[in-house]
Amino acid sequence: MNGVDISVSEGEGGNGLLNFLGNLLFPILTFAGVFFFFRRAQGGPGGGPGGLGGPMDFGRSKSKFQEVPETGVTFADVAGADQAKLELQEVVDFLKNPDKYTALGAKIPKGCLLVGPPGTGKTLLARAVAGEAGVPFFSCAASEFVELFVGVGASRVRDLFEKAKSKAPCIVFIDEIDAVGRQRGAGLGGGNDEREQTINQLLTEMDGFSGNSGVIVLAATNRPDVLDSALLRPGRFDRQVTVDRPDVAGRVRILEVHSRGKALAKDVDFEKIARRTPGFTGADLQNLMNEAAILAARRDLKEISKDEISDALERIIAGPEKKNAVVSEEKKKLVAYHEAGHALVGALMPEYDPVAKISIIPRGQAGGLTFFAPSEERLESGLYSRSYLENQMAVALGGRVAEEVIFGEDNVTTGASNDFMQVSRVARQMVERFGFSKKIGQVAIGGPGGNPFLGQQMSSQKDYSMATADIVDAEVRELVERAYARAKQIINTHNDILHKLAQLLIEKETVDGEEFMSLFIDGKAELFVA
Ligand code: ADP
Ligand code: MG
Ligand code: ZN
Repeated sequence: MNGVDISVSEGEGGNGLLNFLGNLLFPILTFAGVFFFFRRAQGGPGGGPGGLGGPMDFGRSKSKFQEVPETGVTFADVAGADQAKLELQEVVDFLKNPDKYTALGAKIPKGCLLVGPPGTGKTLLARAVAGEAGVPFFSCAASEFVELFVGVGASRVRDLFEKAKSKAPCIVFIDEIDAVGRQRGAGLGGGNDEREQTINQLLTEMDGFSGNSGVIVLAATNRPDVLDSALLRPGRFDRQVTVDRPDVAGRVRILEVHSRGKALAKDVDFEKIARRTPGFTGADLQNLMNEAAILAARRDLKEISKDEISDALERIIAGPEKKNAVVSEEKKKLVAYHEAGHALVGALMPEYDPVAKISIIPRGQAGGLTFFAPSEERLESGLYSRSYLENQMAVALGGRVAEEVIFGEDNVTTGASNDFMQVSRVARQMVERFGFSKKIGQVAIGGPGGNPFLGQQMSSQKDYSMATADIVDAEVRELVERAYARAKQIINTHNDILHKLAQLLIEKETVDGEEFMSLFIDGKAELFVA
């Protein structure tokens, strides 16, 4: 229909019986093949299945690493991340002027671990180090080492280092090293022979660099907590460089990098976008600019304006809008009051994040959304006060409370289920982790807390008695009930604003923060204190 050429060809007709036999024979052959190989692979150490040849030769000859003589990436391509760049500058210097260090008897470090959440530019930085030093870049993902067959990984590591040493000085980059570098003997599900052999080989190679081989190994991970301690001891990856999520200034610079080559309208203000994207990584920002460009193209525009960026951002955060969804008047009214409830409670909580936008256009799973603008300071420090968390719970309950007050207790809906999930999680953490409960006291219970960006630990066994569990439940309940009562009080006292806002939402579907605030000017609402 769109003028695309296609051609359709008949498959081989063939003989039915032969096909059938072929299908039957294939798996049998495969099994035989696998069995054969397995024995070979376990055979002589180091020998590997090298001599087998043909398409079945999967061992050492299939190198899974990539060699790039010149990455062409420099530190200028990595925006923000100043601290990491500063620390890596040292590695560049080791590669460029090794004599300076050896003259003084200094041993050049062999390994450096880049630690940080996904998408913060670890891979990019590693390439930039090679680019800055003007040396070749060997890279591979650690998961590539590990195959079904024992011994293959080790042989691949050996291969990689052999090649690298012949091209020294150079950088060897091992991405996602946690795939092989987990604590040995501590894996789930057993069968870690292959991983252990691979990691042992890696350690052997690194120890084997005598003096200055000129090979520096960079590795990246977002789970330093699971790494084997043998990897981290001096002489191996003894240097760690943390690559964090960028701050506002960093985000502005990353946005600048990723809008090169894009036609931007004059109204685009990177500073403003950076303020609206706390917690975004470099990869997220790159994606944002790309989505905005796609959106502009879809709208047949010549330039990307701030509206496209804003829409792309909301789409990334909350999923695509279902603009054409048919929503009954009744549902619209319900969602409007629900969201108005969140916004109203949020606006009247002391020192809470300001409301940025309220929308009742359905998106993804949500019927409507209230956006708050979290403060950079709070995100950066990662510190939340007790009162902030209590306010957050009240705001989350505001939706249900509004439904209840307006439509009656019997007519509340399932629309608040996500809100409840959030509230329960916050309340439980307050009691179990943060020492915010008088009865439980200043102890952490219920499994390791860990670094939030490194993800939840796999095992979170309860380490407290049933009696304590009862107290925890009671404390959680009390926190939630208190938050509920606060939300209810606000909504009851400022009923007039709730109605006004809901009316406005039903009319316009989205209301921005300023418009919302103007509703308060005629009313005489005051910050809630209690
Ligand atoms: P990681 O290895 O930490 O998961 P990557 O280095 O693969 O992240 O980053 C993915 C992409 O995000 C990069 O190709 C780059 O385009 C972009 N990016 C990430 N951080 C930055 C940054 N600080 N400056 C510029 N671009 C960045
Ligand atoms: Mg990476
Ligand atoms: Zn809600």
